[in-house]
Amino acid sequence: MSILELNNITKRYDDKLAVDNISLSIEEGEIFGLLGPNGAGKSTVISMIGDLVKPDQGEIAIDGHSLKKEAILAKKNLGIVPQDIALYENLSAINNLKFWGTLYGLKGALLKTRIDEALEITGLKDRAKDKIKNYSGGMKRRINIAAAFMHHPRLLIMDEPTVGIDPQSRNHILEFTRNLNKEYGTTVIYTSHYMEEVESLCGKLMIIDEGKVIASGSQSEIKRMVSNEETAEIKLTHYTSEIGMKLNTIKDVSGINYNAGILTIAMKESKTNLQDIMDVLIGNNAKIENINVKVPSLETVFLTLTGKSLRD
Ligand code: ADP
Ligand code: MG
Repeated sequence: MSILELNNITKRYDDKLAVDNISLSIEEGEIFGLLGPNGAGKSTVISMIGDLVKPDQGEIAIDGHSLKKEAILAKKNLGIVPQDIALYENLSAINNLKFWGTLYGLKGALLKTRIDEALEITGLKDRAKDKIKNYSGGMKRRINIAAAFMHHPRLLIMDEPTVGIDPQSRNHILEFTRNLNKEYGTTVIYTSHYMEEVESLCGKLMIIDEGKVIASGSQSEIKRMVSNEETAEIKLTHYTSEIGMKLNTIKDVSGINYNAGILTIAMKESKTNLQDIMDVLIGNNAKIENINVKVPSLETVFLTLTGKSLRD
């Protein structure tokens, strides 16, 4: 069963259509990417899932429970890390975690265990008693994420968790997201306008722009929407024009270029190609030093489908 269902969600602010008829189904256990440039409607979608903003139209169900009809049950297994940090600056990390844990109904020994766990997984145990206002932006982010995980929700939604923070905290958050998913089986919706992050974390994703779905599916499905071309870059110590001629006869190879020891082959995505290419190279004593197969990036997909760049 899907942990989250959005059916034809629409939200309008005055004359601005922030979210335009979005549907989505997420299976439990995924790290799902919600990718789109600033103003695409990502935070509005998340606010509607969190029941902070009511959709004008459409239905939302979390873990099979309608958000409209069974709000408490629906939200029980939901954790949201908001885009803007929601922590008390004058309280310590421990007291912030205590606050959020209590809000989620935790108390006594379990609350204490969860606070210890949160400090452990954020790597901020030694700073636990410091006031949040003395934390770096990245450290605040980590505590903000841990706060949303205090009740161990089965669905955790993170809204642009790595914007404006140092690379060390960024790597920590990416690693932390993978660990949550692996060790607790938490389903994660990872929202970002950084395509590299979504590319490295998420199996399935949805790309939105101006409130509309641009593309949705697995990474390879989405990439294939714009192109089924792959490029193999092969570093060789030996190359002849005869090798080039033979490679050109392989089905679905569309172009060959050899320059400065690197053979670049453009080909249609196909599992048999690479084997055929290897056979030709090995059969003709071309010593292979390195192979790199490239598929189109999500940036290319976005550019192709919208005519603009995802970057700031
Ligand atoms: P994203 O999170 O992808 O950057 P948002 O969901 O924040 O996008 O915003 C989508 C669009 O809706 C933007 O044009 C934004 O200006 C507008 N918007 C968002 N929240 C409000 C609001 N409370 N009032 C009016 N317009 C809003
Ligand atoms: Mg946003």
